[in-house]
Amino acid sequence: MSNGKRSDGGPDHFETRAIHVGQSADPATGSTIVPVYQTTTFTQDSVGKHRGYEYSRSSNPTRVALEDALAALEGGRHGFAYASGMAAVNGAMQLVSGGDHVVVADDLYGGTYRLFDRVLPRYGVEFSFVDATRPEEVRKAMRDTTRMVWIESPTNPMLRLVDVAACAEIARAHDARLVVDNTFATPYLQNPLALGAHVVVHSTTKYVGGHSDVIGGAVIVDDDESAEHLQFTRNATGGVPGPWDSWLTLRGLRTLSLRMREHQANAEKVADFCGSRDEIAAVHYPGLPDHPGHDLASRQMRGFGGMVTVDLAGDTNLALRFCESTRLFSLAESLGGVESLIGYPWTMSHGAFSPESKRAKGITEATVRLSVGIEHAEDLCDDIAQALDRAVAAK
Ligand SMILES: *Cc1c(COP(=O)(O)O)cnc(C)c1O
Repeated sequence: MSNGKRSDGGPDHFETRAIHVGQSADPATGSTIVPVYQTTTFTQDSVGKHRGYEYSRSSNPTRVALEDALAALEGGRHGFAYASGMAAVNGAMQLVSGGDHVVVADDLYGGTYRLFDRVLPRYGVEFSFVDATRPEEVRKAMRDTTRMVWIESPTNPMLRLVDVAACAEIARAHDARLVVDNTFATPYLQNPLALGAHVVVHSTTKYVGGHSDVIGGAVIVDDDESAEHLQFTRNATGGVPGPWDSWLTLRGLRTLSLRMREHQANAEKVADFCGSRDEIAAVHYPGLPDHPGHDLASRQMRGFGGMVTVDLAGDTNLALRFCESTRLFSLAESLGGVESLIGYPWTMSHGAFSPESKRAKGITEATVRLSVGIEHAEDLCDDIAQALDRAVAAK
């Protein structure tokens, strides 16, 4: 599989592109690091004669640096940064119109589900939610008016795998676009465009930013027609990130490869350790050979990522006590930062879903999600051990 390789003669390797694409020395001053262009407007030489920038909603040099780097890492020619992941999701949805039908994987980020369930139907966009882990379900849901298929892989929090290439083929056959929310995998581990997808979406709040200090989102495409429409609609609707947030996200992006290698190495150790404990009934990690998506993950990803989900061998109370007993894993929403986080999907990330739909996704009252950080793996395993001991003792 191509490693998001560009056809434009840019550097071949991910690590090099993350640090160099879009980031040559500042033409005005020679500043080696892309400056924070904290300006709303750009002085014109004469009316209509400017140096490519007029007004920062439309375009800003710090933001462009981030967008070019992100696009290069996803192997697309056009990147668009947004003020949040949800603004990016909404930005990608500008590619459809009232009357269009969208087939959506039902194992979906809660905020995206809310937008598709409660906001966009008011504008006449129709949605069908299907189990996309079985591509034939996607195929069956396609209609004449279907213009988009929307998936995530791996999914949150059960880390189920969806076959990106199979969904891309179905979308293509119906003249629809396949959108992949690539937040969990990151461009380091998966490039949906290379697998046939048309649009990639990120919450850069998570691994791309990587330090839990900046909210942001991005949409990446390769084709000019989608790019023109995204540029137009983003400028028309205005959900752009500021220069400072763009700069922070770019700084995070530069070390994505290093961080992902550590996240992943630690996640493997944490998954193994959890598997060795009697208090844990099941470990969900795509890197484990018995994970139902393991073979597909091995084909379409370059690694298995930094998220590990476990089902405790007990009830709600044991799971809650475990979540409240860790000392290094912070009990918090979000994921993908250098520090480890622990979450309780039943009432936290998936609190808005009905009990039936949570169960259909495989989530139970005993499910706990771990975003494994880049601390030392032994300290993380020790923390899990003491938290399990205390959770059981408190019974
Ligand atoms: C967090 C997240 C989003 C939304 O991003 P925000 O930056 O919080 O707006 C979208 N998709 C996935 C998979 C996410 O994890």
